[in-house]
Amino acid sequence: MTRPAADAMVTPARLTVLSGPSGVGKGTVVAEVRRLFPHVWVSISCTTRKPRPGEVDGVQYHFVSDAQFDELIATDRLLEYATFAGRRYGTPRKPVEQHLAAGRPTLLEIELQGARQIRERMPDAQFVFLAPPSERELRDRLAGRGTETDDMIEARLLQARAELDARTEFDVVVINDDVERAAAEVVSLLSAVVS
Ligand code: 5GP
Repeated sequence: MTRPAADAMVTPARLTVLSGPSGVGKGTVVAEVRRLFPHVWVSISCTTRKPRPGEVDGVQYHFVSDAQFDELIATDRLLEYATFAGRRYGTPRKPVEQHLAAGRPTLLEIELQGARQIRERMPDAQFVFLAPPSERELRDRLAGRGTETDDMIEARLLQARAELDARTEFDVVVINDDVERAAAEVVSLLSAVVS
């Protein structure tokens, strides 16, 4: 009797997309998710925006030029991509496919337009919307980050309002009233067995 190859026995994992308005605290929740659930693999996006202080190329993002981003699109190496507040962001396709095939729960932290593209292409993914406890809280967080100009904050607030309206498109809404609690909820979604 021949035994199946070891990799034929791996059950592919499910993709989870975490979206929500800029400033809602997606990054902080994702950091906590990683701490609680080290088995998760979090995709590293490409972006044309400049690194913020403390950000390292290849860790938070792959920081690329506009020409490099064009090339990634032209060669179909992005699973989705979008322009957000004047900068481009995209998810490299191959690492996501590889980690899913290896059975690793995989998380994308992306904005709304990208989440919609994933829904088109990968309808079996689960879509989680991270919502602020209130709009006022969101405004305070965006202004308080202190890393953007007033124009950038305005652009992000405008986009955030449109994104808040889209919560009904998602499978699950998680309220970020408390980072640890919200992260624990995301972990339980990530590790849920798919029937
Ligand atoms: P930031 O510049 O604050 O790091 O990110 C701005 C927005 O871009 C956030 O809402 C973040 O979730 C989103 N984002 C980060 N990476 C990607 C990506 O690969 N694709 C898309 N569509 N959005 C992304």
